[in-house]
Amino acid sequence: MLKKILSPQSCAECRLCCVFDRYDIWETPVFTAETVERIKLSRPEAQFIHKDGGFISAVGELNDEQLFSCPALTLQGCMLGDDKPFDCRIWPYRIMTVGDRRAITLASICEEMFSRPLSQLVGLLRDGLADEIFRYADAHPEIVKPYYEGYPVLMFEK
Ligand code: SF4
Repeated sequence: MLKKILSPQSCAECRLCCVFDRYDIWETPVFTAETVERIKLSRPEAQFIHKDGGFISAVGELNDEQLFSCPALTLQGCMLGDDKPFDCRIWPYRIMTVGDRRAITLASICEEMFSRPLSQLVGLLRDGLADEIFRYADAHPEIVKPYYEGYPVLMFEK
């Protein structure tokens, strides 16, 4: 969904958004029942928790040094390919509740996107991506996160 401005190659070389520490563990993606089944075929040990209409990884307690890799991450990249969770397809854009409204924010940890001019980041949203994100969130409210401090708000819902 971000191919217009973010090359798949940049993502393949980075994978930062597929590994989590105790401070950003809330960022793990929301899976559908189908993707959970697919992951379990090759990672039967992976554990998930039902969350609203979807599933998130059961991570447990992490200490300051520990990292959690998404169970869909392989040495070749994401095993889910084009079926990866919507969260991951729009990352580093995030949809959050800010006050009583939904808004699209940006995760600053993605250096590639965070270095882009604001006009480009907002331009892609205006070109239809924002509508697509809000529409998906209407059907899948479980992907909407509470506002997290430090995430710049790029666009509020109309
Ligand atoms: S589902 Fe795929 S893209 Fe998303 S965090 Fe896991 S490995 Fe990364």
